Amino acid sequence: MSGMMNNKKIVVMGVANERSIAWGIAKSLHREGAQLIFTYRKERSFEKLKGLLEQTGITPLLTVSCDVLDDESISAAFAHIKEQAGSIDGIVHSLAFSDKDELKGEYLETSREGYLLAQNSSAFSLVAIAKQAKGVMSEGGSIVTQSYIGAERVVKNYNVMGVAKAALEASVRYLAEDLGKYNIRVNAISAGPIKTLSAKGVSGFNDIMQTIEERAPLRRNIDQEEVGDATLFLLSHLSRGITGEVLHVDAGYHILG
Ligand code: NDP
Repeated sequence: MSGMMNNKKIVVMGVANERSIAWGIAKSLHREGAQLIFTYRKERSFEKLKGLLEQTGITPLLTVSCDVLDDESISAAFAHIKEQAGSIDGIVHSLAFSDKDELKGEYLETSREGYLLAQNSSAFSLVAIAKQAKGVMSEGGSIVTQSYIGAERVVKNYNVMGVAKAALEASVRYLAEDLGKYNIRVNAISAGPIKTLSAKGVSGFNDIMQTIEERAPLRRNIDQEEVGDATLFLLSHLSRGITGEVLHVDAGYHILG
């Protein structure tokens, strides 16, 4: 198969099921010939992933367990990747976590534990992963994470996750500066709302989707495939001059006042 990602080895983190954004990204990457390495946390996610790979006939280079809340799990995963795959060319960071109770009501009521868990899982995890990338991307590479407009503006109920996404986007810029000298680029996609397992945890999510359909310039919501293709672009040679960027894939919603 010939494609723009031929001979590229990409680590995809965050497939929980067929609706996951990471799965949309994996499909785009596979279409363009990338060799895929998957990481998962829960056994349930691993089972789902195995089923999806079987259904689609995708043979992964490797599947590795990795809990981003655990430094030892991260270093063991990347040591295994290095040992089995050698050098890699890209990492897709498509994961986040918050206690559901923090994703409703007022941000003012955020608990200390809830704040730290969201930051740890959703923002610091990128820093920890980027640090590993330096050791496995010997010829340079590209790291892409997934953000949301709640980082820039107040989105009702998004609360602690909005603040975590703000930290994530700032981290993209600082990491882009630190890793640029090794020819490693760091960018984010800011996706519009998509019905996934994680999105179910955000109170009033359906209302948000309806607003987009009514108001966004394209008058519709976006899907996993569109995020997949935009992420593919940021991982590919086509985006080689771009780093530290947040690219909106949101049917244009972010331009509205
Ligand atoms: P999913 O629920 O499908 O994916 C979330 C993933 O995060 C799961 O695979 C989960 O793994 C993983 N994860 C959470 N905590 C950890 C951890 N400690 N270690 C390893 N993996 C972990 O939801 P989405 O596809 O929607 O989410 C992917 C990314 O996209 C997130 O960053 C999300 O904020 C972002 N995003 C989502 C939008 C949406 O509307 N859906 C919009 C904009 C951005 P496991 O289940 O195995 O724990």
